[in-house]
Amino acid sequence: MNFKSIKGTRDILPGEVETWQRAEDVVRRVMHSYNYREIRTPVFEQTELFARSIGELTDIVSKEMYTFHDRSNESLTLKPEGTASVLRAYIQHNLGEQSPLTKVYYLGPMFRQERPQAGRLRQFHQFGAEALGSQSAQLDVEMMLIALDVYQGLGIRQFALAINSVGCQRCRPAYKQRLTYELTKVCDRLSTESQARVKQNPLRVLDSKDENDRRLTKNAPLMKDHLCDGCREHFKSVESLLRSTRTDFRIDGRLVRGLDYYTKTAFEITSPALGSQDALAGGGRYDLLVQELGGKPTPGVGFAAGMERLIMVLKKDRKDLTDRFRPDLFIASLDETTREWAFVKARELRTAGFAVELDYLDRSVKSQMREANRLQARFVIVIGERELTSGSARLKEMQTGKEAPVMLEALEKVLKT
Ligand code: AMP
Repeated sequence: MNFKSIKGTRDILPGEVETWQRAEDVVRRVMHSYNYREIRTPVFEQTELFARSIGELTDIVSKEMYTFHDRSNESLTLKPEGTASVLRAYIQHNLGEQSPLTKVYYLGPMFRQERPQAGRLRQFHQFGAEALGSQSAQLDVEMMLIALDVYQGLGIRQFALAINSVGCQRCRPAYKQRLTYELTKVCDRLSTESQARVKQNPLRVLDSKDENDRRLTKNAPLMKDHLCDGCREHFKSVESLLRSTRTDFRIDGRLVRGLDYYTKTAFEITSPALGSQDALAGGGRYDLLVQELGGKPTPGVGFAAGMERLIMVLKKDRKDLTDRFRPDLFIASLDETTREWAFVKARELRTAGFAVELDYLDRSVKSQMREANRLQARFVIVIGERELTSGSARLKEMQTGKEAPVMLEALEKVLKT
């Protein structure tokens, strides 16, 4: 039987993984520059945690979760997103007691049983951040800037930031009622999916991708025009901070996002280099969520960004860094004795911080040289009995082809230069 990876999952092979590592390095550097600390939460949680936070009626919870019962018959779910777990940990470990503002980030796999296509997988990876404990609009903008700094740090120049406000519990109910009233008038002409949403989650009808839905709801009222004073002020601050930091953005009154927990700010970053799944990152404020999950009332804001889509953009821009990993030295050896010497020397150099490779397959010197070339080793050294006796050998710089004699004792020093 030939085993294959599960539909919607991917292997990240050597060659591609270097691009991932480079991107992850930049994510960590940017997160640290904004003083976010890493948090690692388990891959699975109680199902109820996601139902409660993301919302029973969302696509994620109603259709896409990997839910199973373990042997004690507890319902568990592979995490479809990061925020719920971070908040669960925040509450469980009383992080709010330790400091009035908690800033954390994560990087890791998420699971959703969606229809796989380019840029949409069933196991995918996200990096994201959460700031808990402040209502400041500066943090809303900080989330956008972190994501943008990561993209810019990786040399990606083309992306678009869209923002909106989805209101709060004070202004949303009245608006929702008004919207439902307007949508009911055209309900029987909407797509089946939107028809179902009119009653359950009318805001989501606005971000339907269906052309006909869009036409029918062209004049529907928008949340951003029905905000209470607090939400309006907050939205203005977000806009003003984006301007002060010279960040391009546009307001998209239809931007809602698929998770129920957002209040006030919602945002999305898209890339023109991607196809129909063009969202690179999304996030927003969720001032009621900690309380909803059993914690003390604590405002929060966060974002999540897809790694696979980021890598797709890097590849398109030819910014994938497949040749980043190169050994510093390849030790080619001629016989059993020199092979053992090479093994010991390699260990010595490796502990000194160098990447060293050698031959494990008893190959001819010629094919060892070929291998060193394939690996793009910086230097190659050939060790035979003569070299061991004399304590010196010729070190060849692969790129220039230049050779120079080197004392074996001094190899480490020479590699350092
Ligand atoms: P969300 O948690 O749905 O707001 O998604 C945040 C980001 O994660 C999106 O903008 C995508 O970049 C990425 N993403 C979400 N779902 C998937 C998926 N099924 N496959 C790959 N990337 C995804």
